[in-house]
Amino acid sequence: MGPTARPYSRPVTHDGAPSLFSANKPASAGFVTVALERSIDAAGGGFSYSVPAALAGLAVGQRVTVPLGRGNKPVSGWVVDASDTPDPAVKRYKPVLALSDDGPPLPDELVTLARWIAGYYCCPLGMVFGTMMPAAVKRATGRRMRERVRAVALGDDAALKLSPLQSGLHAAALADGGWLDPRDLADRAGAKTQGPIKQLLAKGLLESKRVAVVESDLDLRAQKEAAHADTRPPLMDSQRAAVDAVTAKLDAGFGVHLLHGITGSGKTEVYLRVIAALAEADEATAAAEPAGVIVLVPEIALTPQTVGRFIARFGETVAVLHSGLTAAQRNAQWGRIRAGGARIVVGARSAVFAPLPKVGLIVVDEEHEGSYKQDQLPRYHARDVAVRRAQLVGCPVLLGSATPSLESFAHATAGRYALHRLPDRVPGARLPEVEVVDLQRERQERKGVHLLSRRLEALIASNHAAGGQAVLLLNRRGYANYIACPDHRCGWMMRCHHCDVTMVYHRRLHGERGLPAGGVVRCHHCQAEQMLERVCPESGHNTTIFGLGTQRVEEEIARKFPQLKLARMDADTMRSAADYRRVLDAFGAGETDLLLGTQMIAKGLDVENVRLVGVVSADTALNLPDFRASERTFQLIAQVAGRAGRGRHRGRVVVQTFSPDDPAITRAAAHDFEGFAAAEMESRAGVGL
Ligand code: ADP
Ligand code: ZN
Repeated sequence: MGPTARPYSRPVTHDGAPSLFSANKPASAGFVTVALERSIDAAGGGFSYSVPAALAGLAVGQRVTVPLGRGNKPVSGWVVDASDTPDPAVKRYKPVLALSDDGPPLPDELVTLARWIAGYYCCPLGMVFGTMMPAAVKRATGRRMRERVRAVALGDDAALKLSPLQSGLHAAALADGGWLDPRDLADRAGAKTQGPIKQLLAKGLLESKRVAVVESDLDLRAQKEAAHADTRPPLMDSQRAAVDAVTAKLDAGFGVHLLHGITGSGKTEVYLRVIAALAEADEATAAAEPAGVIVLVPEIALTPQTVGRFIARFGETVAVLHSGLTAAQRNAQWGRIRAGGARIVVGARSAVFAPLPKVGLIVVDEEHEGSYKQDQLPRYHARDVAVRRAQLVGCPVLLGSATPSLESFAHATAGRYALHRLPDRVPGARLPEVEVVDLQRERQERKGVHLLSRRLEALIASNHAAGGQAVLLLNRRGYANYIACPDHRCGWMMRCHHCDVTMVYHRRLHGERGLPAGGVVRCHHCQAEQMLERVCPESGHNTTIFGLGTQRVEEEIARKFPQLKLARMDADTMRSAADYRRVLDAFGAGETDLLLGTQMIAKGLDVENVRLVGVVSADTALNLPDFRASERTFQLIAQVAGRAGRGRHRGRVVVQTFSPDDPAITRAAAHDFEGFAAAEMESRAGVGL
């Protein structure tokens, strides 16, 4: 008879007390419940096993190999419950086969958090654990057996003849006293080869052993150089008030703080100070286990710049987790965190599961960001998981954004979250001036297909002449494609019969049913629809669809401004983290004049000489069939505008749109988040969203 499936006797609660908080149970447990990693059982049932003597001490949160089914196929799973007494419902227990991981068990609260995720997001518990622990850790990627050497003291009677190099090496090893990597030892003593070490081993003056290490070539110190110098500027009053308010609550248990600070208002500096205050408090009380901090940053904002600022301030105690790491690097970082060797984890979405032994604060930067949502199973939202984790450990969460999600902002206005405002940019920087260009008028007044308006063209030219750099943004979610004659001399474009504006071709968008195959052409002004015209009525050429993609914009800029040095950044041109870094470094160093890209460039880019930002089409976000379309449009404009004028020169922003009167656009142009939020929340309440 096989192991018996059994549902959890203690149900997952969505709020209130966690159901299994005294997790890591003592060594005497003879029976465990294991959630299988490959389980497809949505109810999250586990299987019962007995613990053989060799595995005595097995604890909740450990990864094990267990036999499954008639063939006793070995499978991986996680111990989620432990008990001293057998369950009378189980006739015969099979034993756990082995521990499949030599690290410490997952911290209690991660086990409880996994149960909550499984219940709240409806997915199998074992799968949640599988996501918490990176594949690189499960596979022990980069784990190698390596030699370590240690000095053996010379007896007084030793009459060994040693070369100067050999004695130097021996003295260095003796002075250290520990187990050393022979390569490091050779470096220290100035030996160019391993020869002298081998000779010392042969003479018995060094002893050696083999140990398992995870090798990682990640050099965090190198990232430090990518950062600004660690200046620690004197805080503005608004920053000071926010730092003090959050710091005062650091040991007051769970609570959510929302930091609404406009772009360039010094939010990161607030995070850094609060984290420093947490460390100081630990030092003052000589805490046995210092509290760790998780800082979540959207993947695309995880530039060496951001990471560098944390390393510049906190040094070696920082660990990073993001998709740019190799598997071995990720395994090494995870191992350090789990062993208590890193106090501050800066990472993307999945870093919310960082196995810090003790968490004292969770920061979620750009909390409104869509990339915190994982779309594959198990689906979860890292911001919401962060709040739940903080609730489980009883620590504060600090959410920060220039454009908070309306959900979070509503919690703050209702008093459930503490709201802190940074209404001004840091000294010396001013908010840019935002101009809205009406594309409908532009198309009426100008012949041909132009993605850049005359105003934007003029500003690109004058900005370049004045020595400024520029950023052009195109949001490519959603399509803005035009039907046009391919012959430049003809210049015909499909226009609306009623309004004479250029019509936009729509493919079948997600959630938009009823479009005929091949799509329709729609007027963004009056919403009239027509079938695609396949032949140009003026010159008889077959028409083409001109996509408003970054590539098209790039071609147009290159044609109109051959003297500009251009760089393009989108999912097609960026294959790896190194690509981003190369393009951003070149732009930061002033080697390129204009950076063109999708919204991935809207985040985090901090280049002082950017004086002009253009949004090629704000409508691509606005026309999405999504009740958050306005919110997204506002966020996009506000965020991208945040890239302009971060230095001495005041920035300028041009927003091109067919809907110049849309409140999302007019409020973003006026830098009025709270006005926008109030109006939008009211209109959503009106339709029950
Ligand atoms: P945000 O995260 O709100 O966009 P940052 O924290 O990145 O803003 O700050 C923008 C820049 O201003 C950074 O270079 C930072 O070092 C600097 N800065 C932050 N606070 C101050 C301050 N009080 N005085 C002067 N410069 C500051
Ligand atoms: Zn029309």
